[in-house]
Amino acid sequence: MNDLRAPKVGFVSLGCPKALVDSERIVTRLRAEGYELAREHAGADVVVVNTCGFLDSAKAESLDAIGAALTENGRVIVTGCLGAEPDEIRAAHPKVLAITGPQQYEAVMAAVHEAVPPKHDPFLDLVPEQGIKLTPRHYSYLKISEGCNNRCSFCIIPRLRGDLVSRPLADVMREAERLVKAGVKELLVISQDTSAYGVDIKYAASEWRGREIPARFVELAAALAELGVWVRLHYVYPYPHVDAVIPLMAEGRLLPYLDIPFQHGSPTVLKRMKRPAAQEKTLARISRWREICPDLTLRSTFIVGFPGETEEEFSELIAFLDEAELDRVGCFQYEPVRGAAANDIALPVPDEVKTDRYRRFMQAQQAISAKKLKKKVGRREPVIIDKVENGRAIGRTRGDAPEIDGAIHVSAHRPLKIGEIATVKIERADAYDLYGTVVGF
Ligand code: SF4
Repeated sequence: MNDLRAPKVGFVSLGCPKALVDSERIVTRLRAEGYELAREHAGADVVVVNTCGFLDSAKAESLDAIGAALTENGRVIVTGCLGAEPDEIRAAHPKVLAITGPQQYEAVMAAVHEAVPPKHDPFLDLVPEQGIKLTPRHYSYLKISEGCNNRCSFCIIPRLRGDLVSRPLADVMREAERLVKAGVKELLVISQDTSAYGVDIKYAASEWRGREIPARFVELAAALAELGVWVRLHYVYPYPHVDAVIPLMAEGRLLPYLDIPFQHGSPTVLKRMKRPAAQEKTLARISRWREICPDLTLRSTFIVGFPGETEEEFSELIAFLDEAELDRVGCFQYEPVRGAAANDIALPVPDEVKTDRYRRFMQAQQAISAKKLKKKVGRREPVIIDKVENGRAIGRTRGDAPEIDGAIHVSAHRPLKIGEIATVKIERADAYDLYGTVVGF
């Protein structure tokens, strides 16, 4: 990696509470995608001005703010109410990079991506690369903390972003409520270590809906479950306290889905990786979870070719896969991230060995995933619609996160809308995707 600096965006928010909600929504997306917010216009890579155009005085204030951002930075994207009158903006400030109107989140994000492309690094980022291009309005990432208290030897996040800093629970919940009010049907909870939420603030309670609720993983999950939308938990480690969310999944309050980046299945490699919860009896835990919640989908990521990985340790990884029978799995070949401790702890695995292990890993997992998908044929499942193209709809079951997991191709007797949740009878499965017909709304 050459330049580890996250791209910086300056942000000016003007106008009424509705505009503020828009601003917060854009800022959330920017942060989820790895952009940093700049304190000063001068240090930013681009500045977004969310304008108000309600009164003449508000228009003048917005035009002034655009002018100030152009003088101090030069690269400015305009959004918000005044954006509905692009001619007026261009007449005053012909140099603005892009103009979008109120609530045009996707258009603002597209303009930011064009002005300052997001940096994607599979070892560092929480949001998948494909997800960066466009996050439709019916689902949204909800970031609950920054930084990380773990010290995995292949990772430099704690050095780059510092130790864990959890947001107060009420703060997270207010953002979640705003997103739901704005039409979001699915919240994707993200952080570097979701199960560690609140450790740094000693689980301090804050008030939400008239109750004092501690900032703890389980309480947060239960509070989010009250919002009546799909809630999907990412980056959870298999600590004993995670057991408590499984009944919520079995009761249908949370999506029966856990994204647990195991990274390896060999105890000695996990030790060298310094992975959190590596000592926990993971396989026994998984099987208990499945007894409580048989519908549970487990997704994970793994690294093959970690420094010093022997053939025996790799075999332990394959044995782990066979026994864990995870539903969805991603795999990376180890890459030395500059500054990571792992680079010096053992000899690197030669590239051709890495590639061969990657191939064997994928082969083993594909058979497992295909078998698991096949078992779904004949079932009726709620499906959220992500895309409608030429009358054909593509969605996801509760077991599929956007962008990283599979899809279900849906036929229906009436046109489906993006963000709609329908009951679909699953008729067929291939290696990655499902096919079915709507049987209820
Ligand atoms: S849990 Fe490990 S890999 Fe993840 S951010 Fe923390 S140190 Fe990095």
